[in-house]
Amino acid sequence: MALKLFNTLSRSIQEFAPLAPPKVGMYCCGPTVYDFAHIGNWRTFVFGDLVRRTLELKGYAVTHVMNITDVEDKIIKRVRLSRQSAATAKETKTSLREFTGKYEAAFFEDLKTLNCRLPHHTPHATDHIADIISLIEKLVARGIAYKAADGSVYFSIEKYRGCGCTYGQLLKLNFDEMKAGERVKSDEYAKESVADFALWKARVPEDGDVFWPSPFGEGRPGWHIECSAMSTNILGPSFDLHLGGEDLIFPHHEDEIAQSEGATGKPFVKYWLHGAHLLVEGKKMSKSLGNFFTLRDLLAKGFTGREIRYSLLTAHYRETFNFTFDGLSGARAALARIDECLGKLREIAGRDALPRVQADQQVGPTGLVKDFTAALDDDLNISAAWGAVFEWVRETNRRLAENSLDAAEAASALAAWDKVDSVLGIGTKSGAEIPGEILALAEARTAAKKAKDFKRADAIRDELKTKGWVIEDTAKGPKLKKI
Ligand code: AMP
Ligand code: ZN
Repeated sequence: MALKLFNTLSRSIQEFAPLAPPKVGMYCCGPTVYDFAHIGNWRTFVFGDLVRRTLELKGYAVTHVMNITDVEDKIIKRVRLSRQSAATAKETKTSLREFTGKYEAAFFEDLKTLNCRLPHHTPHATDHIADIISLIEKLVARGIAYKAADGSVYFSIEKYRGCGCTYGQLLKLNFDEMKAGERVKSDEYAKESVADFALWKARVPEDGDVFWPSPFGEGRPGWHIECSAMSTNILGPSFDLHLGGEDLIFPHHEDEIAQSEGATGKPFVKYWLHGAHLLVEGKKMSKSLGNFFTLRDLLAKGFTGREIRYSLLTAHYRETFNFTFDGLSGARAALARIDECLGKLREIAGRDALPRVQADQQVGPTGLVKDFTAALDDDLNISAAWGAVFEWVRETNRRLAENSLDAAEAASALAAWDKVDSVLGIGTKSGAEIPGEILALAEARTAAKKAKDFKRADAIRDELKTKGWVIEDTAKGPKLKKI
C-alpha cells in the first residue's frame, strides 16, 4: 500500500510520490542552540524520526538533513547577556561558538537518549555563510531583494508577487492591510503580518563581534535564509519533504519558499509536514507556570529516554499532545507488557532458532508487520499502529499461556517485532538502561564469586540493594532487576 501524508501545501492527504524514487530528500528544521531543547521541541524531532523510519521501512533511501541554527536573534541576545562584561569584542565572538557548542553537544546527546536516528547531514548556519550570501545575491540580481537605508537587505514581497509568484502558499494571507515596503527585521514576527523580511542584517553594536563581511556590508544572516541556503545546497533546488513544528508554518516556512523559489524559479518542496504542539498537563509550557521541562528534567525525575520516546509517540502528529506524568507512568507500564512478552519469546526461541516464516507474515489476524504498516500508511496513524502492536502482544501472550509456540515460531514473532521496532525505536529493556556503576558492581560480584570470595560477593549484593538493584542468579547467569 502507498504511504499517504497530510501536505500543508495542498491542505489535503496525498499519496507520497517522491521526485526520484527510491531516493527521498528530507529536511527538518533543527534546533536553535541557545538552551537545552524542551519536550515540546522533542515531540517535533521524534516526529521527524518517525517519518524517516517509516520511509526507511517502506524501502526508501532517505537523505535526512537537520540544520543547526547557531546564529540568530535569540542566540545573539543570550550571548550578549551572558557576556555583558566581556572585555573585548574578540571574547564575544569566541563565546558564540562556546555558547552554542555546549547546547549543540547536549542536543546530540538527547537525540541519542531518545534513540532518534542521526540525520545524515547536520549543517551549521555559520559554516554556510558563503552559500547564504550567494543566495541573497541571486535575489538581489532578480530584483526581489533590496538594500534598505538601515544597511540591511530585505526580501520584497511586492516584487516577488509581481513576478507571478505566490506568497502565502502554506496559509491564506490578508494582503489588503499590506503596506508596500513595510519591513520587519526580527526573525520571528507577528503572525500573518505581511511585510518585507530581513535576509541580511547590517551589523549593529549589540552584535558585538558576531558579523561577517559581505558584498552588502558587514552583518549576519536572517534565520529564514539560513534554512533555504542549507537545504537547497545539500538536497538541490527541489526536494521531497520539509518538516517542522506548526509554529514554523508562518513566517519561517513561507519565507523559505519565497526565498528559494524566488532565487531558483523552481518549485521548492513537494510535501510539507507539520507537527502539532505539545501541552503539559493541558497548559502551554512556560517557566512561570512551573511546567517547563527539558528532556534532562524528566531524566532527573527517574524516567528513561525509552519511556519518554514511547510517550511522545502515542499521539497522532497532527493532534495537540497533552503530556502528563500519568501518561509517562502509563508508558512505563505499557513497555513492561511488551518487554515481558518479548522476554518469553526470547526464552522459547533460544539463540539459534531460525524463523519458520517471514517476519511480514507472522502472528495475528493479518500479521503484525502488515497491520502496523497499513496503519502508518494512513497518514502515520500511530494509534492504529499501537493497536496492532498490543493486539499482537495479546495474541502472543495467549499462545504463550497455552504453550503452543515452538522455537521457530517464537523466532518469527521476534523477527516481526524487530521490523516494527525499526520504526518505533523503543527496542527492549537492555543493559543500556542499567547505569554503568551498577553494571560494574555486578561484574565485580561475578569475579568475586569466581574467586570463591563469597564474603565480598555478598557485600556487593548488599551494596547493589542499597542502590536500588537486586541481582538474581539464573541458569543463564546473573540478572539485574530494579527494586
Ligand atoms: P527551535 O529550537 O525553537 O527552533 O524549535 C525547534 C522545533 O521545535 C521547531 O520545529 C518548533 O516548531 C518545535 N517546537 C517548539 N515548541 C514546541 C511545542 N510546544 N510542541 C511541539 N513542537 C515545538
Ligand atoms: Zn528552518
